[in-house]
Amino acid sequence: MLVAGNWKMNTDVPDGRALAASIAEGLSSASSDLGTVEFLVCPPYVHLPAVTDALADAPVTVGAQDMHAEDEGAYTGDVSAPMLTSIGCDAVILGHSERRKYYDETDADVNAKAQQAQAHGLVPIVCVGETLEQRKAGEADTVVQGQVDGALSGVPIDSADELVVAYEPIWAIGTGESAEPEQAQEMHAVIRDDLTERYGTAVADDVPLLYGGSMKPHNAYGLLSQPDIDGGLIGSASLAAESFLGIAEKAGKVLEEARD
Ligand code: PEP
Repeated sequence: MLVAGNWKMNTDVPDGRALAASIAEGLSSASSDLGTVEFLVCPPYVHLPAVTDALADAPVTVGAQDMHAEDEGAYTGDVSAPMLTSIGCDAVILGHSERRKYYDETDADVNAKAQQAQAHGLVPIVCVGETLEQRKAGEADTVVQGQVDGALSGVPIDSADELVVAYEPIWAIGTGESAEPEQAQEMHAVIRDDLTERYGTAVADDVPLLYGGSMKPHNAYGLLSQPDIDGGLIGSASLAAESFLGIAEKAGKVLEEARD
C-alpha cells in the first residue's frame, strides 16, 4: 500500500520543510499500526533538498512532479532525471492531467519521459484518467487504456517495483467529488488487465495502482479496501500532516484487516 502526496505548486520552502517535519513526527509517534504502508511525497522542485533532509530519518521517500525527457541541454526552466537522482529522488509523477491540460503533454511525451525515468532508476508514477464528458459518453475505459498503452509502449518492466500507475479521473481532481469505490475499482481492474497483457500476471499483479481524486481521511477506507486499489495519490489532503496521516491510518487499517 502506497500513500503518496502531490503538493503541486503549494507552500514555500520553509513551510514545505515544516510540513515534511510534521509528517515525520506524526509517523514516528503514530499510535496505530501502519504496518507495511509506504510513503512518498512529491513537493515542488525547489523544496526537494529541504524536504529530503527533513525526512532523512522517516520512512518516506521523495519524488518530483515532472521532469524533462532529455538528460541535459537548452531547455530553459526544465529539470532532468539525473538532476533528480543526484538529490535523492526515487520517483517522478508523469502525465498528471494538469500537465496534459496546461502544457499540452501528450501520451508520446509521457512515454518519452517514462523511458527516461526508467533509464535513470526513477520510478515513473504514470497518471491516467478520463474527463467527465468522456465518462458520460461511455469512453472512460478506452481513454484510460489508450493512455496506459501510450505511456508504456516500449517501457519494459521486469519487476513490479519499477512502475506505479495512478488512476485520476479528471472530474474528481480538486473538486471534492471522489469517485465511488466501486467505480474506481472498475477502472483499476481495466488498468490491471492492460498491465497483465503487457507484462504478465507475476509483474502486473503487484504494480501499485493508486487512486487519485479528492481522497480524504473520510473516504479513504472505502477506496483503499478495493482489491485493485493499492494506495492513493493525494493532492490537497497531502498539504496538511493531519489529513495525510489520517489517510495513512486508513491504509494501515485496510492492511491490518487483510492480515487477520
Ligand atoms: C491530484 O491532483 O493528483 C489529486 C489527486 O488532487 P486532489 O486530491 O486535490 O483531488
